[in-house]
Amino acid sequence: MSNKRDYYEVLGVSKGADTAEIKKAYRKLALKYHPDKNEDDTAAEDKFKEAAEAYEILSNAEKKSRYDQFGHAGMGGASGFGGGGGGMNMDDIFSQFGDIFGGGGGGGGFGGARGGSRVIKGSNLRVKMKLTLQEIAEGVQKKIKVNKLVNAHGVTYKDCGTCNGTGRITRVSQTFLGAMQTQSTCNVCRGAGKMIDKKPKEVDDQGLTRKEEVVEIEIPAGVEEGMQLSVSGKGNAGPFDGIPGDLIVVIEELEDENLRRDGEHLHYDAYVNFVDAVLGETIEIPTVSGKAKIKVDPGTQSGKVLRLKGKGLPMVQRYGQGDLFVHINVWTPKKVSNEEKEILEKLKESENFEPTPDYHDKGFFQRMKDMFQ
Ligand code: ZN
Repeated sequence: MSNKRDYYEVLGVSKGADTAEIKKAYRKLALKYHPDKNEDDTAAEDKFKEAAEAYEILSNAEKKSRYDQFGHAGMGGASGFGGGGGGMNMDDIFSQFGDIFGGGGGGGGFGGARGGSRVIKGSNLRVKMKLTLQEIAEGVQKKIKVNKLVNAHGVTYKDCGTCNGTGRITRVSQTFLGAMQTQSTCNVCRGAGKMIDKKPKEVDDQGLTRKEEVVEIEIPAGVEEGMQLSVSGKGNAGPFDGIPGDLIVVIEELEDENLRRDGEHLHYDAYVNFVDAVLGETIEIPTVSGKAKIKVDPGTQSGKVLRLKGKGLPMVQRYGQGDLFVHINVWTPKKVSNEEKEILEKLKESENFEPTPDYHDKGFFQRMKDMFQ
């Protein structure tokens, strides 16, 4: 099907060669035929590409086994070599080099990545937002003023003179392989490839200026103190006409005068007078969505906890709603009149006033168990 040479023959290794042998053989050929050492020599370039392709296949266990079984026919177009013209392009080959010659990273290695200039993202902007428990319970839309960097009007750009608009700087250095190119991001334009041609005085040299802007933010119900919401693209504008960063909203919870929060649950301390605790009464309590009425049964003990299902807060990351726990406290009068004192002394003698708690008059430990189940 093709007139390609056998990959093993290209690298000059036997069919039984192991990974190390294959790598070593390729390394030798890559050095010999490297374009930087063979300028304008198309025969050398063909050999360089041929060796790279052979290595690409034989260094990959899966591709190697397919090649061993089916030969070149087994490689089809599927491996990304493009059926027709054949061979790998130079970028592919150079990107392979990190593997072969080590180094890599940090701008070392060979002139690998040959991408163009890049668009720079602006920095993130952080704002704090104070929310009431009611706002947290329902979710809220807030408009806030932010002072942020924006792309200034009246700025014109030209190609960066240092990198000629490519965003990259190429250096030729002498290495053990001969003259080699290395590339790094241009430190003048930070890779944008642009610089300012003309700008108004107040604009900084990245084309940005400060401006107050009103941003509308949608806060979902159920957020918590310290939570951070990210609003994409509402942060500072990117240098050199780049793309904007994000707006990070840090949630702060304002303390509620009645309700205490514990995750998605709420707690309320209710005080009932002694008579209501004995005879039973309906009392009014605050919730996040207004007042609610609850029944205090006759004979209710101080410390009893009533659980109001679904009267807590919505959960922000999953479906569901917390509960409201009403803690009943029986109010003990701090002072009494002589007349009241007389009545109380009389009541004290009644056998009904002798404490005889049973399982249902839940004490502290039982209540704790309820709260954590
Ligand atoms: Zn530049």
